[in-house]
Amino acid sequence: MIQMKTPLVEMDGDEMTRVLWGKIKEILLSPYIDLKTEYFDLGLKHRDETGDKVTEEAARATLRLGVAVKCATITPNAERVREYGLREMWKSPNGTIRAILDGTVFRAPILAEGIHPLLPNWRKPITIARHAYGDMYRDVETTVPAGGKAELVVTGPDGAETRRFIHAYDGAGVALGMHNTDASIGSFARACFRFALDRRQDLWFAAKDTISKTYDHRFKDIFAEIYAAEFDGDFRRAGIEYFYTLIDDAVARVMRSEGGFIWACKNYDGDVMSDMVATAFGSLAMMTSVLVSPTGAFEYEAAHGTVQRHYYKYLRGEKTSTNSVATLFAWTGALRKRAELDGLPELEAFAGRLEQAALGVIAAGILTGDLAAIARTAQKTTVDSEAFLLAVRDRLAA
Ligand code: NAP
Ligand code: MG
Repeated sequence: MIQMKTPLVEMDGDEMTRVLWGKIKEILLSPYIDLKTEYFDLGLKHRDETGDKVTEEAARATLRLGVAVKCATITPNAERVREYGLREMWKSPNGTIRAILDGTVFRAPILAEGIHPLLPNWRKPITIARHAYGDMYRDVETTVPAGGKAELVVTGPDGAETRRFIHAYDGAGVALGMHNTDASIGSFARACFRFALDRRQDLWFAAKDTISKTYDHRFKDIFAEIYAAEFDGDFRRAGIEYFYTLIDDAVARVMRSEGGFIWACKNYDGDVMSDMVATAFGSLAMMTSVLVSPTGAFEYEAAHGTVQRHYYKYLRGEKTSTNSVATLFAWTGALRKRAELDGLPELEAFAGRLEQAALGVIAAGILTGDLAAIARTAQKTTVDSEAFLLAVRDRLAA
């Protein structure tokens, strides 16, 4: 039995991923590790019972203990309120956790032999770092009637108003106001620089400062100031590079690249580009995600959702072929980070072996349905959710 020191914060979740969560622990973790966790049930029913307090408690535990692993969870909409008889349409757990951890989300694809990115030149993973605060996600929008006028009004601390004219409308139209803060942009920049050093990979940052000469330019300037003041020396010593370019130039470079770098994106760019990158690397089910707080707390999860469609099949008693790799890598990521912080080489080595075993099973052509559809392995056997995990266990033992 491999021993642990500090417990992981374990956030259980919903539907098919909750089923996989239990299986991963039962088949691949508990037999080998004396698993220590502080368990929080973020399943929708329990969030409802606790008035969503459990989500906040789990996030605060993550700040206290430093490393968390999270299962996918339902973000309720009107349909879910009816389905689960909810007292309230609770907010997105990930949104709540991000707000408490004030973090940056890094998403990276898991590369496996036999699963080819749509772009043959992408040989290494591309990690997307998405700023998780402000811009369009916290904007104020309005329609403007014909003959109306839109202005931007800023009230200073002394009450003095400055007004900037936006547009006089001949016909009806729309307008929006959005914001960000130097503090949030600064912690985003630091999270990216630290992550790049941790991974020893180049960092790219792109925005549209030629058009957005104040707003986007502020992002560019803050990145440049923090880099020069705090990270330039460490980057040189690590042999890695930071560079800024325009977002359209970045897209072209990313397409031509061989991968192996971190791409920092503003909130909206990150939303769009992470789906593009995940899809082009092969499968949403092979995308990992880690939220890093400015204080150095880490929360690991899969990028995909609760795989609802498969869960309903499971409830009808049918076999499912759901890919558990991203959820498994959330566990190995968290265990490795815990091992690193607590100085536990055995645990660290186990996390590596478990990942290699899973990748080995895929390379051998034992695949869940999503990968079987795209794999170019010599052999191909499509297996169900549990058979895949059992194959990983056999390979781990071998
Ligand atoms: P989803 O769970 O990401 O699944 C969408 C589709 O993608 C599935 O139906 C499946 O396609 C495929 N897929 C995703 N993950 C897979 C896996 N591991 N193995 C095999 N196929 C996989 O999105 P959703 O079904 O639209 O959302 C379900 C719930 O997840 C929602 O309530 C949403 O709020 C929540 N969600 C949570 C998170 C999170 O906690 N981080 C993120 C996103 C969504 P096929 O059906 O074609 O097989
Ligand atoms: Mg999106």
